[in-house]
Amino acid sequence: MSNQLYDVIVVGAGPAGSHAARLLAASGYSVAVFEQKSAPGLNACCTGIISAGCLDSFDIGPEVIRGRANAASFFSPLGKRLRLQSERVQACIVDRASLDLALAEKAQARGARYFFSSRVTDIAIEHGMARIEALHRGSPEISVSRAIVLANGFNPALSQKLGLGRIKRFAAGAQVEVKARDIDEVEVYFSQEMAPGFFAWLVPASPGKALAGLLSTSHAKLHLEKFLHSPSCRDRITSQESEIRQKAIPVGILPHTCGDRMLVIGDAAGQVKPTTGGGIYFGQMGAEIASKVLAEALERDDLSSARLYRYQKEWQARMGREIALDYRARWAYTKLSDSRIEKMFDILSSGNIAESLLKSPDFSFDWHGKLMLSVLKRGAVHYLRKAWHTPPREARLW
Ligand SMILES: Cc1cc2nc3c(=O)[nH]c(=O)nc-3n(C[C@H](O)[C@H](O)[C@H](O)COP(=O)(O)OP(=O)(O)OC[C@H]3O[C@@H](n4cnc5c(N)ncnc54)[C@H](O)[C@@H]3O)c2cc1C
Repeated sequence: MSNQLYDVIVVGAGPAGSHAARLLAASGYSVAVFEQKSAPGLNACCTGIISAGCLDSFDIGPEVIRGRANAASFFSPLGKRLRLQSERVQACIVDRASLDLALAEKAQARGARYFFSSRVTDIAIEHGMARIEALHRGSPEISVSRAIVLANGFNPALSQKLGLGRIKRFAAGAQVEVKARDIDEVEVYFSQEMAPGFFAWLVPASPGKALAGLLSTSHAKLHLEKFLHSPSCRDRITSQESEIRQKAIPVGILPHTCGDRMLVIGDAAGQVKPTTGGGIYFGQMGAEIASKVLAEALERDDLSSARLYRYQKEWQARMGREIALDYRARWAYTKLSDSRIEKMFDILSSGNIAESLLKSPDFSFDWHGKLMLSVLKRGAVHYLRKAWHTPPREARLW
């Protein structure tokens, strides 16, 4: 580590942190990234499904892509299958370790300095500077900067320490790579018993391999183990290729995502779709807005919370309504019994409602709110409606 005063210290070398580091370094600012892992993307717990548009915006090569998807099968609790196919490729399946590495390399190529095996244990804003303490290979080191970008994932300790509040709700995620046969496209399984409040999935990863994962309100690992022994998996999965990894996903937003000399982006800010738990795209957008606002503030040498508040205003204007709609939809879903989910599958399969929604201009891989409103307007899923209109206090985000 050095005694240099950086313009910006980024905490966390996930996709959001490295994307911000690259943009800020490209604007000519000195950037240091502190990452607790010894390499980017190590032991990642993520399926890596992102829209083709999101991948394009990252501007990285095709080497991170494991596959592309234009079809997915959705399964009801009793095993009814609803297969949706689009003419265009809707999603790319990227290898998370390769994505994180590629993004870190892009940032380094622009001049950002990376400190791996460096866990930030303390942050303070004092004497007109941001000061961090990091445990670098076991020994504490102090670094200083003009501003801090917190991109440390769902990890409330640092944001709480900075007085930014904490995200109270989260989903539990678990995933394992498996050797499998006949898993050629994305499969999503709905059942409150199997994956309470969320869903399970099988996603082709490479020839003969797949990612089996699950999100739930709690005990994700336990539910995933049961899913692996369910009829959908047991005859096709031949072996587990890794330990089951677990990670929490924020459901809800951080009360304050900026302060004097600091901004919070990605999962740390709650920039995640509450329906799917997907956070790479929103984190990317958060990183872009944060970098723009921060670059302007550095230029004017005004790093006050009043100036940086432009970031919070802008990201909430872009993503806030969507996150609130998703939150409501997810809340409504948690209220459905398996028999009601079964009936919803019947309704969506009949009269090609699902296919027509897929073809409608309201369909977007990254933006689900309009599509959900369109589903509700069609009145096809009246079970969802009741719960939709009685969300908990936390669902009324805006
Ligand atoms: C099972 C599962 C599957 C998922 N699948 C998808 C998917 O298909 N598509 C999608 O879009 N999203 C998916 N997600 C969500 C996605 O993984 C996250 O939204 C995304 O990783 C958020 O990026 P980030 O950069 O904000 O945070 P992270 O990727 O969590 O990166 C944060 C980084 O900060 C580091 N860090 C944390 N604390 C410190 C500290 N104190 N000091 C230094 N470094 C620190 C961490 O080691 C980490 O590298 C999935 C999540 C789970 C759990």
